[in-house]
Amino acid sequence: MAVSIHPSVDHGIKPASPGFSGGMLVCKCKDRPVKVQISAQSAHNHVCGCTKCWKPDGATFSMVAVVPRDAVKVVENGDKLKVVDPSAAIQRYACTGCGVHMYGRIENKDHPFYGLDFIHTELSSQDGWSPPEFAAFVSSIIEAGTPPDLLPAIRGQLKGMGLEPYDCLSPPLMDAIATHVAKAKGTLAA
Ligand SMILES: [Zn+2]
Ligand SMILES: [Zn+2]
Repeated sequence: MAVSIHPSVDHGIKPASPGFSGGMLVCKCKDRPVKVQISAQSAHNHVCGCTKCWKPDGATFSMVAVVPRDAVKVVENGDKLKVVDPSAAIQRYACTGCGVHMYGRIENKDHPFYGLDFIHTELSSQDGWSPPEFAAFVSSIIEAGTPPDLLPAIRGQLKGMGLEPYDCLSPPLMDAIATHVAKAKGTLAA
């Protein structure tokens, strides 16, 4: 039986809308929900098997994308937000009421992805966000409890949905990280 990859992709992947320029992320609290305004289309959306990203109950993967950090604005009930792990490279701001991660921010200016915030577009009721393009950190779902013998079938399921499975990030993102490192080291001209 096929597992639930993520509710936003299990029944088909919705395409991006041309000219889409953002929306409102809302946490799951009935009382005083946290609202975060995103004023940009998402990029590099993907499903992620790591154990750090927030995901809804029953999903095997999270769905996570990036936007420029200046396109992220907490507009309501920001007092409920708390960083999950202050020692992590990505500071994930979670709602202390419902546990949903509203955005993740990198404060280290030397990090390859500095300037980009991580968001879960499923928290928005607007349609038109860029759809997931690949599956990252697939093998890590074992760490979260998926039996290893299911992995071949799950990789097949992801491929069938057009989400190429990788056990790290996608090749373009791994190349971007390596380029950043090479420039920092001086191996490659900046
Ligand atoms: Zn909440
Ligand atoms: Zn992740």
